[in-house]
Amino acid sequence: MFDLVVSGGTVVDGSGAPGYHADVGVGGETIAAIGDLGRAETRRVIDATGLVVAPGFIDPHTHAEGALLTDPQHPMGLRQGITTEFLGIDGMSYAPLSAANYRLYRRWLAGLLGDPPEDLDMSSVAAFRRHYHRKVAVNTAYLVPFATVRLEVLGFRDAPLRGRDLEAAGRLVREGLEQGAVGFSTGSKYYPGPWAETADLIALCEPVAAAGSVYMCEPRRANLERAHGGDGVAEALEIARRTGVRLHFAHYRTAPETAGRIDVIMRLIDPAKAKGLDVTFDIYPYPSGSTIAVSYLPGWAQEGGPDALLRRLADPGDRRKVAETLDHDPSVPLDQLVCSYVGKEKALEGMSLVDLAARAGCTLGEALCDLLLSEELRVGHVAAPPRSVALWRQVSRDCMQLLSRPDYMVCSDITPAGSVPHPRSYGAFPRFLGRLRREFGGLSLEAMVHRMTDRPARRFGLTRRGRIDRGYFADLVVFDSEHVIDTATYDDPRQFPVGIPFVVVNGEVAVDDERLTGVLAGQAVP
Ligand SMILES: [Zn+2]
Repeated sequence: MFDLVVSGGTVVDGSGAPGYHADVGVGGETIAAIGDLGRAETRRVIDATGLVVAPGFIDPHTHAEGALLTDPQHPMGLRQGITTEFLGIDGMSYAPLSAANYRLYRRWLAGLLGDPPEDLDMSSVAAFRRHYHRKVAVNTAYLVPFATVRLEVLGFRDAPLRGRDLEAAGRLVREGLEQGAVGFSTGSKYYPGPWAETADLIALCEPVAAAGSVYMCEPRRANLERAHGGDGVAEALEIARRTGVRLHFAHYRTAPETAGRIDVIMRLIDPAKAKGLDVTFDIYPYPSGSTIAVSYLPGWAQEGGPDALLRRLADPGDRRKVAETLDHDPSVPLDQLVCSYVGKEKALEGMSLVDLAARAGCTLGEALCDLLLSEELRVGHVAAPPRSVALWRQVSRDCMQLLSRPDYMVCSDITPAGSVPHPRSYGAFPRFLGRLRREFGGLSLEAMVHRMTDRPARRFGLTRRGRIDRGYFADLVVFDSEHVIDTATYDDPRQFPVGIPFVVVNGEVAVDDERLTGVLAGQAVP
């Protein structure tokens, strides 16, 4: 007797092998049989005739830790067919932090991660994982985030990480890995992370390498003078060279300024790989990103943490200095910013910084300072896509070309906070799976599914996930390969994809004919 049979579909099993017709029988939380199960007894049948049955998608890059705690159903991920989400990405999350440091960092991160309860135990990776185990709809994996570790050891201070502090940081990384983290992460500009020097990160990647785990890097964009080679990619490669750690670059793709020039973004990486470095990548299919506005402010203004930063923004002299830095920093795309999340004045969500500055009669930098001050730093934003459709199409083409490499996998980079989030939060996986695969070609359906399932599962060491095989966990997605497509856009982002009627997590039906069932079967993995 099965608990569930998914019958009559084409099984695309995650391995990359050609799809085949079979029924999939589920008993408890695992796959019990694959074959002709037409006569088998079962409690429930999902008719998948004409549809594809694949392993649930594994998303190595999301920022859903806060959203999962406030809405454990998590429709934006689940409706994309995602059954496992990685948290603790870009070096910033909630654990391991003391109660006071959790409340402090929660404020700094609110524009991106939202507003989860204030009184949660985040004192260890084990404590963090307990908040998600069988309490949310998707499986979750965690990476030990560097900025979080640095905050716990040194506070929000630009001080060298040396001696006993470095030992304490190393201990937190090791303990996190022992408690089930699948890697260690750093981010581009998320304080207090960018106060690090390359030597600190080399020291902290040693236990990661020793554990056979992965260092996930969003290349540094702040304080480049502290990075080996003065560059974020060169720094990451040096860390991998010196420690032997397995390296993974987060959402690594061309941008409007490098569109069509994959050779430029791979200039340092491919020669290093040819010499033996173990490097992989993930990617989401959009030409622009989304983050928290507070991360653009210079390091001297961040010193001391959120309260000190707010005092500086309220001080006319300091405000002028911060605004001038922002107005003259070519790496900060102020003219593209659109508010995705605003803590208090919700009417500002969807407004561009250009419009806010015009209304106030001030510069873009001044407008951002004033917004961060009045909202107490709780501002998230999306960068608008390029106006040139041709440029945008070239970035999409580049994404498909990159994804055809054997070292690439798909991510969403879900940034959930606010009423105008980045469309990737609702559409990244179906956009690759449907729209870009059909429009640009170059990847078979089986190859595409492989990059969404088995490849990340193996890279990050998830146990019995990422394939449809006997004994594997029954994480399944059923979709229509001809019609599956994203519908979320930059101006109307909170739209679910179509063509993904069923999602199963650990043997339980979580999406039933496009409706959420309320089941919270997600486990903290691996
Ligand atoms: Zn991210």
